[in-house]
Amino acid sequence: MKIAVLYICTGHYTIFWKDFYRTAEKCFYPREQKHYFLFTDNNDLIASLKENDNVTPCFQVKSGWPYDTLLRFNIFCTVQDRLLQYDFCYYCNANMLFLKQIDETVIPFPTLEKSLLLWRHTLVYHDEDASGFTVERNPESSAYIAEGEKCHPYGGGFFGGTSEAFVRMSRILRDNIAADLEKNIIAVWHDESHVQKYALSVSCMEVPENTFVSEEYAEGRNPYAIFLDKSHFGGNDKLRGLPFAVRVRNGVVRFVNRVCNKIYRMTKKKGE
Ligand code: UDP
Repeated sequence: MKIAVLYICTGHYTIFWKDFYRTAEKCFYPREQKHYFLFTDNNDLIASLKENDNVTPCFQVKSGWPYDTLLRFNIFCTVQDRLLQYDFCYYCNANMLFLKQIDETVIPFPTLEKSLLLWRHTLVYHDEDASGFTVERNPESSAYIAEGEKCHPYGGGFFGGTSEAFVRMSRILRDNIAADLEKNIIAVWHDESHVQKYALSVSCMEVPENTFVSEEYAEGRNPYAIFLDKSHFGGNDKLRGLPFAVRVRNGVVRFVNRVCNKIYRMTKKKGE
């Protein structure tokens, strides 16, 4: 099988590439022929990969948060003709790290009938109606999911498909996101909200439970790959390159939220 792996690392996210590549080579369908499309704004990284036959480095300007992640489908479409030369395409978040060998017995390849492969968030894995996770509720957005509608907690951190299905989804979501932006709308969880909406209209395979888990929840789950805990690398805001003032404001909001939650839990306990 010929596999394309798509990977974006602009700004500070370049720190994750080396370990991602090393572990993906070793563990992610190691017997198949893999090729990586690496999108980055780091010219040194691009230069360092010149000799590497199985990586195509593509210069990608850092658009700023949240566009770095929201506009991922535009990025994929820039190489769509090349992607169609592969059997399967997989997107991996920059902080993904493989731990154990994955082959078709762990995650079967997508098929013609179920041509997409999606991954569910661990803690809300069995949620069927967004009672434990947030979907886009603005009817003006192309990612809109109505209250009560059945939906799954699919994540944006990993997805794949046959190359045709992957490219089709990339084109549709690129256009949906552009239509939202025309209306000044950004869905609540950016690209992820659009994936959740798209999943309602297609038949897809799923990554089995506990196969990919965020590092924070990995203990006792024995995953095949983790999403590294970004708090060990300066935290979300720093990695995303948010301006200092915004980082301070977000820090204050998080602190106040934590205190309020604690007070709420304490008063609830007393009332019981
Ligand atoms: N990303 C990037 N540069 C940035 C922000 C995001 O390359 O400045 C890419 C990177 O591949 C990252 C993905 O967008 O893994 C999703 O970003 P986010 O910070 O939302 O990660 P998540 O919350 O999904 O862990």
